[in-house]
Amino acid sequence: MLPDFGPTVPLTPPIYPSAVYHIPDLDAVDAIYNGEATGYVYARDGHPNASMLGDELRQAHAAEWGVVAATGMAALSAPFLALLSQGGRVIASNRIYGKTTVLLRDEFPRFGVSTTWVDTNDLDAVEAALAAGPAQILFTETISNPLCRVADVPALAEIAYRHGARLFLDNTFATPTLCKPLEMGANLVMESLTKMIGGHSDVILGFVCGREPKLEPTVATAVSTWGLAANPFECWLTSRGLATLDLRMRAATANAVVLAEWLGEQPGVSRVIYPGRADHPDFELAKRVLPHGVGNMLCFELADRNAVNRWMRATPAVPFCPSLGHHTTTCSHPDTTSHRFDPVEEKRRQGITPGLVRLSVGCEPIEQLQAAIGHGLTGG
Ligand SMILES: *Cc1c(COP(=O)(O)O)cnc(C)c1O
Repeated sequence: MLPDFGPTVPLTPPIYPSAVYHIPDLDAVDAIYNGEATGYVYARDGHPNASMLGDELRQAHAAEWGVVAATGMAALSAPFLALLSQGGRVIASNRIYGKTTVLLRDEFPRFGVSTTWVDTNDLDAVEAALAAGPAQILFTETISNPLCRVADVPALAEIAYRHGARLFLDNTFATPTLCKPLEMGANLVMESLTKMIGGHSDVILGFVCGREPKLEPTVATAVSTWGLAANPFECWLTSRGLATLDLRMRAATANAVVLAEWLGEQPGVSRVIYPGRADHPDFELAKRVLPHGVGNMLCFELADRNAVNRWMRATPAVPFCPSLGHHTTTCSHPDTTSHRFDPVEEKRRQGITPGLVRLSVGCEPIEQLQAAIGHGLTGG
């Protein structure tokens, strides 16, 4: 039995780890399955913590529906699994998260689904790829990993619509604090909740949402049937992270703006990549697509791999952690981690060099960060 709280209500929501629910009778189970009554049956199909988190995120994205999934990759895979069949075709950006490239390049062809890779910042190229033959999904990242190219969401949505395709965006680098792509015409949006939304590097989780109500059961069925369901404790932890997302994103973005200018003047730094800098190719576009700030992700380039090794060893206060979105600053090295399985020539085309360091800027005092990073740059 649940405890008797009397007239009191716990301030924080409970965790319901139950794998299954006690249903009073057959009429009740029919009513739940037929959607005539609320209730839960089996946790792989739904549970209260996934419902609570899903509702909060759906509201954050002004979405019609939203589904929580076990990982960012699960949330990303679900719409593809739900919407594509043999002979299906995806148009995807040629500058995305390495694992997404692996999914589209190495996995889906086995099921007869092909991908055409384009520079999604070249709208004529996107138009030409869609005109060349039917495609169901146009996929890109709102802010690309790692070089922070910004997607012209309204223009891409318009092109996709004209060609009968759906625009699907990975919004992980932007978060709903900085961009709500559904409001700009996108059809589907996913987030790796593992990153800024979880915010404390203690969960792996994902979320996907959209505008068309009819897609909810299709995507939810893919999540249940392919075994992509989220676990209650991780949903609960992520709700807790989401509560401070706006505060953390604003603080971290303010730090990133200062660091992006400051880093450009530091010894040994040959290049800084941040869409808030006038020398970034999407500086003007970012003001339109990301009016509340361009985020906490930036890259800087050192001479070579040895210079990165020296800097990492001399900068323990900015730990090398191949992820992002922690509440304090971490760094990563796309060449050897997130984009490890991209061919070398592909990485160089994108600008991912052995000297490239990716920073996920956190919320610590800016002076502390400048002292730590600067100390490492001058040899420790
Ligand atoms: C991390 C990440 C993913 C995958 O999310 P997981 O939670 O690790 O499965 C997808 N897209 C981007 C941009 C990411 O950074």
